[in-house]
Amino acid sequence: MSQLNLVLLGPPGSGKGTQGERLQEDLDLPYYATGDILRAAVRDESDIGLEAKEYMDRGDLVPDDVIIGVISDRVEGDEAKDGFILDGFPRTTGQAEALDEEMERLGRELSAAVLIDVDDDEVVRRLGGRRTCEDGGHIFHAEFDPAKEEGVCDACGGRLVVRDDDKPEVIRNRLGQYHDKTEPLVAYYDDQGLLQRVDGTQAPDDVNEKIRALIATHRMEEEA
Ligand SMILES: [Zn+2]
Repeated sequence: MSQLNLVLLGPPGSGKGTQGERLQEDLDLPYYATGDILRAAVRDESDIGLEAKEYMDRGDLVPDDVIIGVISDRVEGDEAKDGFILDGFPRTTGQAEALDEEMERLGRELSAAVLIDVDDDEVVRRLGGRRTCEDGGHIFHAEFDPAKEEGVCDACGGRLVVRDDDKPEVIRNRLGQYHDKTEPLVAYYDDQGLLQRVDGTQAPDDVNEKIRALIATHRMEEEA
């Protein structure tokens, strides 16, 4: 079977991580959340990991070419011989172009960019409902997983608060940045005929099923 090299796109709160992990199992492909593989490279003290660590220790952003190096190290490994699922990179068209070049160097190409589409109001509803326990860090959701007594942690009795990151205005600000960068990226993949949109407001099982159906169709078309 041909390789399946996937990129996942979607706003914060779209359930992209959950879907990535499920696809990893469904498709038996490695799931590369860029934050995770970056930390793993630092932990393993690989050459590129040590390079990344220098930036991280200084509190600087890890440059694109270093992140691409980390991705490359993994993609070149035996684990990714049938493909991979990449999440968290690219976030801009510049990064997408750099990734394309690297894939070409590796003799590979992306199979699809799957966009898990969730509108802003739904993201605010999902992320803005999060309530965090001040004492134990236990997490609840005002709507989907409420504490038995409002404002009180079921697990330890601590006070439940809305963290700054979960305040609606902060979420909307993040979403604004996401749209600015990602919309050109979505157009970039659309122009290449790689974009696959999935309605992310459905239940996670349905989103998973849709993505798998898209991939099955893609494979059939490739073999035809
Ligand atoms: Zn607690």
